[in-house]
Amino acid sequence: MNRFEYVSPNSVQQALGLLSANWGDAQILAGGTDLLALMKDYVVTPKRLVNIKQLPGMNAISTERDGLHLGALVTLDRIADAALVRRDYPELAQCVDDAASPQIRNMATIGGNLCQRPRCWYFRNGMGLLPKTADGKSLVVEGDNRYHAILGNEGPAYFVSPSTIAPMLIAYGARLRITGPAGEREVDVEKFFRIPTPENQREHDLRANELITAVIVPPAKGLRAASYEVRQRASFDWPLAMAAVALQMSGSTVESARIVMGAVAPVPWVSLEAAQSIAGKSVDERSASAAGEAAVSKARPLRHNDYKVKLAAIAVKRALLVATGQAVPDVHNIKGGAA
Ligand SMILES: Cc1cc2nc3c(=O)[nH]c(=O)nc-3n(C[C@H](O)[C@H](O)[C@H](O)COP(=O)(O)OP(=O)(O)OC[C@H]3O[C@@H](n4cnc5c(N)ncnc54)[C@H](O)[C@@H]3O)c2cc1C
Repeated sequence: MNRFEYVSPNSVQQALGLLSANWGDAQILAGGTDLLALMKDYVVTPKRLVNIKQLPGMNAISTERDGLHLGALVTLDRIADAALVRRDYPELAQCVDDAASPQIRNMATIGGNLCQRPRCWYFRNGMGLLPKTADGKSLVVEGDNRYHAILGNEGPAYFVSPSTIAPMLIAYGARLRITGPAGEREVDVEKFFRIPTPENQREHDLRANELITAVIVPPAKGLRAASYEVRQRASFDWPLAMAAVALQMSGSTVESARIVMGAVAPVPWVSLEAAQSIAGKSVDERSASAAGEAAVSKARPLRHNDYKVKLAAIAVKRALLVATGQAVPDVHNIKGGAA
């Protein structure tokens, strides 16, 4: 690991003063479960680490008039265990509880989870977010792309967005509160993620001198929601494909749906096709399957990842069935087997 300066500010204003407009100069440290691994591998080499764990007011879980407020420093295990979250947003609690391992959830913060960097092995080996061959072709397209994107992969980005919590937050219509030198702003979690085009652009709409202070989840009364992950193994792992759904129901009919896929695109992928497919219908094997197929109708698999198309369709189908209280095989994981 390179040498770095370590600072531990006591206020948000102090923290902002210690950040820089350039990513390489300073980096925010929260739980450190992602950042420190990248630093040890020399993928990220900040000159200064700004530890934000002492910042006041970013550690609370509360309900306000506009919904659930999660301070950016709230750890994943606290979200999963919070009585308030379990009561009013049980599917969010479940989704958070499915992420990573107990040890990691104990350290990892919700702000860090949304800003964690892609797991793409080219990126993690120091070849950049948009790795290229010597003659300018995409290394991902030419190389081993078995875990890469099947949607939103027109280039130049082929990595997949890693957070399994972001799709659920987007399905709920959550927003982020961000503070920086120009003051405070709010952005929908959906719009926070973006597909980078130049190599120096991040996959998030966050400037190097800004920090996330809170996540706000609107009231979810009356919504039927669920997430479903398809993983290679049942213990801690990122999924091969996942889906999060939030349904507004009128009796047994879906009035409107938010369907968001994870691990399939460089951003959490909101599927309007799937939402349209299920709207006006009741959820059963047939309509859920059709929505799953609609969700992947525009997929463009790479050379080694066409298996993900089917897994993503299954994830959408099963999330819809779970949201409406129907049984699916082995909720949250499949270890092979029929759709
Ligand atoms: C074995 C393993 C399995 C995992 N499985 C999953 C999984 O299934 N699903 C999943 O979603 N994740 C998974 N993760 C990732 C894990 O959830 C993240 O590493 C963690 O949430 C990051 O949070 P942190 O507080 O440790 O962030 P840090 O490592 O401290 O920071 C991560 C990034 O976020 C930035 N950052 C942190 N906080 C803020 C803030 N408030 N404002 C602006 N920028 C900020 C940092 O500068 C850094 O770039 C897994 C990790 C491991 C190691």
